[in-house]
Amino acid sequence: MSRGRLRVAIVGAGPAGAFTAAQLRARGDRFDIDVFDRLPTPWGLLRAGVAPDHGSIKTLDETFERATFAKGCRFFGNVEVGKDLPHAELARRYHAVVYAIGAQSDKSLGIPGEDLPGSMPATAFVGWYNGHPDFRDLAPDLSHETAVVIGNGNVAADVTRILTRSVEELARTDIADHALEALRSSRVRRVVVLGRRGPAQAAFTNAELRELGRMEGVNVVVRPDEAQLDPVSTEWLSSEGTFTARRNVEVLQQFAAQPPRPGAPREIELRFLRSPVAVQGDGRAERVELVTNELYRDDAGALRARALEPAGEVVEAGLVLRSVGYQAIPLPDVPFDERRKVLPNERGRVLDAATGDRLPGIYAVGWIKRGPTGILGTNKRDAAETVACLVEDWEAGALPEPAGGDVAEVLGGHADLVTADGWRAIDAHERSTGAAASRPRTKLASREELVGVARGT
Ligand code: NAP
Repeated sequence: MSRGRLRVAIVGAGPAGAFTAAQLRARGDRFDIDVFDRLPTPWGLLRAGVAPDHGSIKTLDETFERATFAKGCRFFGNVEVGKDLPHAELARRYHAVVYAIGAQSDKSLGIPGEDLPGSMPATAFVGWYNGHPDFRDLAPDLSHETAVVIGNGNVAADVTRILTRSVEELARTDIADHALEALRSSRVRRVVVLGRRGPAQAAFTNAELRELGRMEGVNVVVRPDEAQLDPVSTEWLSSEGTFTARRNVEVLQQFAAQPPRPGAPREIELRFLRSPVAVQGDGRAERVELVTNELYRDDAGALRARALEPAGEVVEAGLVLRSVGYQAIPLPDVPFDERRKVLPNERGRVLDAATGDRLPGIYAVGWIKRGPTGILGTNKRDAAETVACLVEDWEAGALPEPAGGDVAEVLGGHADLVTADGWRAIDAHERSTGAAASRPRTKLASREELVGVARGT
């Protein structure tokens, strides 16, 4: 049944929001689609998360542009929903509000010293090298020879590569200029990556793990005893291990067996069954104290790590990056599941946190819907599910009728608003300054600069 026009607000212009906008738009032009982002730039982690040396993935921005803004979706950048624009204002003006706000914070370890200067979330370091305006002034200390990365996921792989890639290679990417300059004089030569569980439980995807072994001028070290599987993992790998886990174990055992590359100036050491118990130092991070773990099956059958030996091993390090996962934070007036750290939802339909009842017209997509897992493309499938529910609800007449009024009227007084045209001006500026230096783009990394270029001032 056709029901006239549908007005949809998408909050968050990262990959999940962009796929949602693109898929709604692809269903025809019965939809008025507005995309909001708290940054002056769209594409979320595609711009501010994907590592600069993974440039080919970043070309997805052109697909997003063609499928959204070029097809009439509007962009309201530099607008923070919940602060500049309350949820109630959106709910009054749109049939549906889709939250695609991702997971904007990080998990902590709960160990002493983790917040000493020099010890920080990897997510902040990622934001810093990617020109995210909130992290421009991070100034990580790169004056020590060793850095420790805690965690065994793809973010850990990203930050490890950026710390060990040659500056010549980085200079060909879109890494933020301030990061490139700092990395030029970096003294970091060795990155120790700590996995609390074993090689079979590493969260790297195969390509990301193999890539560490292919880096120019870098030795990858895995201690042979740590590459061997314990009996619990051997049994787990043969009964329930995934293809990815099996390949990771093979790759790690190859790393353990290979002789060091002669003359490689930098080193990545992948450690397993090691957990940090404290970051120590005199007013700043100087060393990480470790325990050795063993694996066991908990009551639910999951493989977990527990300390086997008291702390004793110490790694001297001036930079400690904890890369143990992203975490979502609640938005004012929008339900939040404190335990799972997502918007409570059923296939993207947001539910009242207390009663479990559906909240008509409110949807979730991406990490705020399912938690911070999956690669970028996972959001395409995820968006398809949310879009299908939204359209089904619309066709069933289950969406609230908005009171009306264009949101542009409310935001008219928002001096620093960045529209799709403003973003295109930023994009063109960054690409042309980048081209002059044989780089894909040179990023503007402060809100003032971004807004200035967007407004042509
Ligand atoms: P992740 O894949 O969930 O990895 C988190 C790592 O932290 C795991 O090794 C986990 O170990 C460890 N960890 C958690 N709590 C810990 C603790 N208390 N002590 C020690 N270690 C702890 O998270 P992520 O690396 O942040 O990545 C998030 C998502 O983005 C993932 O789906 C990832 O694949 C994706 N991503 C993809 C790419 C790419 O495709 N190139 C790049 C970046 C990110 P346990 O397994 O023992 O919990």
